[in-house]
Amino acid sequence: MKWNRTRRWLAGIALTAITMRGAVAESPGRLVEVPVEWPGAVDFLVREGFDIWEVGDGRALVYVSSGEHETLEREGFKLTERPLPPLDPKAVDGYLTFAEYEAAMQARVAAYPGRVSLSTIGQTHEGRELWMLKISDNVALDETDEPEVLLFSLQHAREWLSGMTLLGIVDHLLDNYGTETRSTQIIDSMQLYVILVANPDGYVFTHTNDRLWRKNRRNNGNGTFGVDLNRNFPYRWASSTSTSSATWGGPSPLSEPENIALDNWVKSRGTRLVGCINYHTYGNLIMHSWAWTTAVAPGVETMGPLVNGMANAMRPVHNQTFVPGSWGVALGYTGAGVTDDTFHAVYGVPTLTLEVRPRTAAEGGFVVPGTYILPTQQEQIEGAFVFLDWALTHGADPTPPVLSNVQVLPVSSSAVDIRWATDDPATRSVRYGRTPDTPFVATPDRLRGQQHIVRVTGLTAGARHYARAVSENLAGDIAESDLIIFRPGGLDASDIWAVE
Ligand SMILES: [Zn+2]
Repeated sequence: MKWNRTRRWLAGIALTAITMRGAVAESPGRLVEVPVEWPGAVDFLVREGFDIWEVGDGRALVYVSSGEHETLEREGFKLTERPLPPLDPKAVDGYLTFAEYEAAMQARVAAYPGRVSLSTIGQTHEGRELWMLKISDNVALDETDEPEVLLFSLQHAREWLSGMTLLGIVDHLLDNYGTETRSTQIIDSMQLYVILVANPDGYVFTHTNDRLWRKNRRNNGNGTFGVDLNRNFPYRWASSTSTSSATWGGPSPLSEPENIALDNWVKSRGTRLVGCINYHTYGNLIMHSWAWTTAVAPGVETMGPLVNGMANAMRPVHNQTFVPGSWGVALGYTGAGVTDDTFHAVYGVPTLTLEVRPRTAAEGGFVVPGTYILPTQQEQIEGAFVFLDWALTHGADPTPPVLSNVQVLPVSSSAVDIRWATDDPATRSVRYGRTPDTPFVATPDRLRGQQHIVRVTGLTAGARHYARAVSENLAGDIAESDLIIFRPGGLDASDIWAVE
């Protein structure tokens, strides 16, 4: 334990962020390797809210408090101690404090007044602002014909490199506007929204008290603090862990002011928001939904070329390999109430979690020297351009959609698939009705791309039902199919099935 032991005491008297050049806040936990060969072992760790850092090769790397250490031993796990990444002073140099991020954002607005603006979408538990940058040509105007993306970082407090990565991407776009075709095209054709510090209270705490703090700073009222902001979103939210756990999902879905603000903002953009990247560290991963289960979310199939393209664009920059896939595949475990799943399933916004460098805890984990910042920015800029080009292509078509191949196909005596195609990759809503008089039910279509499918269940065999495919593009143009009348099968679906 080489770092400064007086730091905790200092932190206790510091009411606001203090810049800690030359010292790192202490962290109270221990890192252990847990064998997870038996079925359900990883699920157990996830369910109990353990702070899992890595899973693979039949073991999990878990950061534990002394109480959690006892729990694991009581459960019969044979634990092996692993060294925590050294918290040396070099791992502070080059990173911005929260106050420095605020100054950096204001400096960008001052340097590029027509192309950057700064606003706040809300406040944290401790009253800090949730700052959002907007980057676009004519930034003061809301250009409703331009597709929008959201990029955010530092949702997890200790993941310092994620914020510096995103700042590097922002600076690349701004500095090269007018001289580099791709930067100019993105700023001219899109509206980019950026939240560099999505968890300001937690981030400040990592500078003052605990470098490995992950959550926000909610006072849970029982001597414990913090909710994991990336386990607090409503889609597939589950709260089974204790309030002291690193992945505590909060007392209820969307209980946290940071998340309420983010959710309200995403909701307010409607179909104009065509994509999102949630920057984290570490692991060298490009993750898409689902997070809550090992299955791949519907619609994500069409994003295969996107995530592969991002990995391919990043690799040659510094010879880093990035693994794309759903959480279960890429990360090796699942998460309930994860931000990306809500954005994907509720708002139809394809959202990626990018786990930037390093690859492993042995390479530094969450605590890497400032020398990592520039190369990480350089490779992530290439990945970001692949994503932004994709978002532009999938969001920019302002012509009304054209529907074709509208079909209702039997699945069982009580279920059908409604399928259709559109010429417009940005379209994403479908509605169906069960009688001609019933108001059509709006169902966000999770399938981005041109082939759409929605499964309708709970139908009555032999009875007439009614459906209509509806697609709406980014500009709000709507196309509707003719009304389709169909009669699901009885005992033998193929006998009685009919489209009239
Ligand atoms: Zn994270």
